[in-house]
Amino acid sequence: MERRIDVRDQVSQLIEQIDARQDELVALVKQLVRFPTPSPPARNTGEAQEFFAGQLRDLGFDIDQWEVFPNDPNVVGTLKGKQSSDYRSLIVNGHMDVAEAEPNEEGWEKDPFTPSVKDGRLYGRGTADMKGGLAGALFAIKLLRESGVELPGDLIFQSVIGEEVGEAGTLECCEKGYTADAAVVVDTSELNIQGQGGVITGWVTVKSPKTYHDAVRRNMVHAGGGLHAASAIEKMVKIIQGLKELEQHWAVTKSYPGFPAGMNTINPAVIEGGRHAAFVADECRLWITVHFYPDENHEDIAKEVENHLLNVAQGDPWLRDHPPVFEWGGKSMIEDKGEIFPSLDIDPDGKEVHSLKRAHSSIFKENPTVSMSPTVTDGGWLGDAGIPTLIYGPGDLQNAHHTNESVSVQELIEFTKVMVTFIHEWCHTKREDERYDL
Ligand SMILES: [Zn+2]
Repeated sequence: MERRIDVRDQVSQLIEQIDARQDELVALVKQLVRFPTPSPPARNTGEAQEFFAGQLRDLGFDIDQWEVFPNDPNVVGTLKGKQSSDYRSLIVNGHMDVAEAEPNEEGWEKDPFTPSVKDGRLYGRGTADMKGGLAGALFAIKLLRESGVELPGDLIFQSVIGEEVGEAGTLECCEKGYTADAAVVVDTSELNIQGQGGVITGWVTVKSPKTYHDAVRRNMVHAGGGLHAASAIEKMVKIIQGLKELEQHWAVTKSYPGFPAGMNTINPAVIEGGRHAAFVADECRLWITVHFYPDENHEDIAKEVENHLLNVAQGDPWLRDHPPVFEWGGKSMIEDKGEIFPSLDIDPDGKEVHSLKRAHSSIFKENPTVSMSPTVTDGGWLGDAGIPTLIYGPGDLQNAHHTNESVSVQELIEFTKVMVTFIHEWCHTKREDERYDL
């Protein structure tokens, strides 16, 4: 009993410190925003990541740092717990890259990488998505360390690159074998606990084995022409129509709690085809973006789209002989024009949900909303690696990626308080227990 009171005292002292030292928290977010890390163009996070690694190193973390792309390194800090084998471990994950910002074209009131505070909001690119989350989580850990708390469980901080363009920052952390009993992705969620649907992009190509001069068109489209050939652009129209039918079929037949009906869209996003006005188009390529629900996976979804379009092709005398070909996903929108974000299901009865809910309601005196993000984050990769993962961070999606991006300073402070409380409890709890055992 006495020891439990100690814990409460310890946590409430930390929380008081966050109020007292909020200027330091704001200064830390500002410092991160001042590193211009827009992606695209990317390949610019080196300095910011070096700074972040230095911060973690000062707090006693062992640093693993490697280049995912030139001048875009991942940073993973590990703070080994005192009783790792019995106590729960945690991964905190966030991305250092931010959405692109063109100050003059987009009407930013101030330079996006010169942060400022006005009317209780902190402005600058990345404040909401998601340098606010990164800084808040780091500050929470800093306070824990400075107060001399020794966590029994492992704490792993992943500061990754490339999230904005679907690059493999977090995926590479998972492939390297980093794992834990839970992960929190501190990305934009307005302090809701969230899972997410998934996204896969793909290219659908219609291609003629031969190239014909424009003058030959008469032979391929008119009575008696005698030439079994077609324009790839005209055939792509059927493919697009087919995708629209499948999208409608999914909207009518599939659903998932927490999502409005029809979130599972198929967007024909980019089309390119034909070579010159003097030729019949011999090739046409369509870039599509497919959204799916948390109980579906990207491999099955890709197969579903392929099967449907191959059936559409069967109904066309030329496409039947020249079916469309598919290239799915990719590890970067910049390098290979493709991306995958796996979906993330959350278990409302999971220990990680209970623990984060408790931490949240201890600060807000009410339960957080558990919901589904309308967008995608790196949480899917951690979930895919078998780690129970939650998205939970400050900032809202009206601000993420938008002109004059900002985050509420109060929300940043509250987020930091929740993280102190959550990390303290989680890493002090034995694996088999529901909560604290001190
Ligand atoms: Zn983000």
